Amino acid sequence: RPGRLFELRLYRTDGEGRLLTTRDITEHAKLDAMRRDFVANVSHEIRTPVTVIGGFAETLLSLDLDDDTRREYLGTILRQSQTMQRLVEDLLTLSTLEHSTAAPEESRIDLHVMVNALADEARALSQGRHRISVRMDAPAPVWGVRGELESAVRNLLTNAVRYTPEGGRIDVDWRIRDGEGWLTVRDTGIGIGTEHLPRLAERFYRVDRGRSRDSGGTGLGLAITKHVMQRHGGSLHVDSRLGQGSAFSLRLPASRLLPEAPAEADAAL
Ligand code: ADP
Repeated sequence: RPGRLFELRLYRTDGEGRLLTTRDITEHAKLDAMRRDFVANVSHEIRTPVTVIGGFAETLLSLDLDDDTRREYLGTILRQSQTMQRLVEDLLTLSTLEHSTAAPEESRIDLHVMVNALADEARALSQGRHRISVRMDAPAPVWGVRGELESAVRNLLTNAVRYTPEGGRIDVDWRIRDGEGWLTVRDTGIGIGTEHLPRLAERFYRVDRGRSRDSGGTGLGLAITKHVMQRHGGSLHVDSRLGQGSAFSLRLPASRLLPEAPAEADAAL
């Protein structure tokens, strides 16, 4: 059949007979190719910073450089090692999300508190280059895995800062629509061409490799975010216009939304 891959085996049986078995190995072959691609990608991602670190360290050791140049080279070494650290952390997060059999602990989370704290983090990252505001009118207690939801929101905010030029705006808002919760991070940044949108959450997929790397991206943020949302029964959505900006949304299903105040325990029962 077109597009399918079969494994054929011919066995000679005891008598005169022959036995031919066929097995559809399309999925198996696909998984194998994905695994090979992933290892090749990771190796490539690690090679770049390691090469830069090695090159600069060698120069520092072999040449008598003035203080300013030494400082500049050491700064580059530090940035590259931070990129590698982020890459290793993201890889570990992905692997835990995909392979951990133990169910992570879920709890009641006040999204107001979480999102405001993460917006402060984003302001520190932005260093005053963007105006970051949060608007959350609807009640926002939800049920989920705190660390995972935190990393999903953080990834969207970090990307908004990363891909929005100085002077741009980043707006976060939370709405309940048809009983479901939508957290949207909207930016006035560089935007994304329509042809890239379906592939954004693939591991290591980047629209502009150089720009992502220069700003410390690992190419894994949206893959992690999508995974986290799926585990919560929700999803990740994007709407973007090239040159105008992007809006990334996290959808949480109704079953994840809690009443505003925790139910009072009834001591008489
Ligand atoms: P990265 O670490 O490269 O940012 P992500 O998985 O978080 O990796 O995002 C994948 C790619 O999607 C990015 O490299 C970038 O090209 C694009 N992207 C993500 N968020 C935005 C945004 N807010 N504005 C423009 N492009 C974005």
